[in-house]
Amino acid sequence: MKIVIATRNRHKAVELQTLLHGVGYDAVRLDEIDPDGKIPEVEETGTTFKENALLKAHAIAKATGLPAIGDDTGLEVDILGGAPGIFSARYAGENCTYEDNVKKLLRELSDVADDRRTARFKTVAVYVHKETELSAEGVVEGVITEKEEGVGGFGYDPVFSVLDMKKTYAQLADEEKNRVSHRGKAIRSLIEKLRENGLIADNPS
Ligand code: IMP
Repeated sequence: MKIVIATRNRHKAVELQTLLHGVGYDAVRLDEIDPDGKIPEVEETGTTFKENALLKAHAIAKATGLPAIGDDTGLEVDILGGAPGIFSARYAGENCTYEDNVKKLLRELSDVADDRRTARFKTVAVYVHKETELSAEGVVEGVITEKEEGVGGFGYDPVFSVLDMKKTYAQLADEEKNRVSHRGKAIRSLIEKLRENGLIADNPS
């Protein structure tokens, strides 16, 4: 059964595709089924990660007629009162780059001591098909480093150090990030729920 990954963010789509591998779905990226970008961008007008994830998944499920899996993710920094949170993509302004966001975050925290740089990555992953809606959350605790470390990943990966590993996501190999990450946790929990609801065979071939 085909399932569409409801994001145009290439990094996220590839992570999601890897995480869904072997589950029994043929997970296709949006750019594979809509290479010309005919399906319009979905505006993230929700006030929570779950609302935004559902907005994206519903729009793509409707446009493609396929079940859709989507996620919404954000970085919550304690000393910033949980910012950038749902505004993580546009923390440094509309159309900003990952690098702009990272630079702004490091600037905001430039005078903040090590023990007060705590943060977490949160993902809400959702599955949408016709009347069915399932959701699951994944959270990883960490700290914001003082400078960028590592070259892998995307977004805030070079400045998010995983608490238990003392390494940034950008210092991890892709498989390692998928094993420990917020997105990995959310998707594995969503897969459990799909199984409980009979939407995945126990022993996919
Ligand atoms: P989205 O709204 O879920 O696409 O994600 C919002 C923003 O959070 C992205 O533009 C990235 O800056 C950041 N982000 C999402 N997932 C990750 C991740 O796994 N690592 C680092 N940054 C991420």
